[in-house]
Amino acid sequence: MFREQGYVERCYCEAEAVRGCGCCGRARCESHLSDSLCDRCSRALTRELATLTGRAWAVGGVVGAVGVLGLMVAHVGPACILAAPAGIVAGYLQRRLQRRSVQAALAPVMSATKGELAAPPEPPAFPSAPTATYGSY
Ligand SMILES: [Zn+2]
Ligand SMILES: [Zn+2]
Repeated sequence: MFREQGYVERCYCEAEAVRGCGCCGRARCESHLSDSLCDRCSRALTRELATLTGRAWAVGGVVGAVGVLGLMVAHVGPACILAAPAGIVAGYLQRRLQRRSVQAALAPVMSATKGELAAPPEPPAFPSAPTATYGSY
């Protein structure tokens, strides 16, 4: 009825598991957890975040630009020098928020699936060069 006390959860590499993955919850050993995520989840997370990086920095840029304008309107000294770090900080904060929300969105998928990650979606193919038919008009 009671589970054998000597039982230790094992990582897939057969080493003793130290913690569950922060995303899929599977038990993993120290070397297969980085940043409290298993290698599979951190790969999935990195991939998801890569598609969002541009947006995070766009938010940072907007905050920086608005900051510059706001400070200029308020006649506060060197607006750019003050607003630029604010933009960078906003970019980093946005990255962290994205990371958390992507991790939350991935968790049910990652715990329900195993094995290799699904192939990343193909990037949209650039419209092939117009098949110019010279001299046809
Ligand atoms: Zn391991
Ligand atoms: Zn995981």
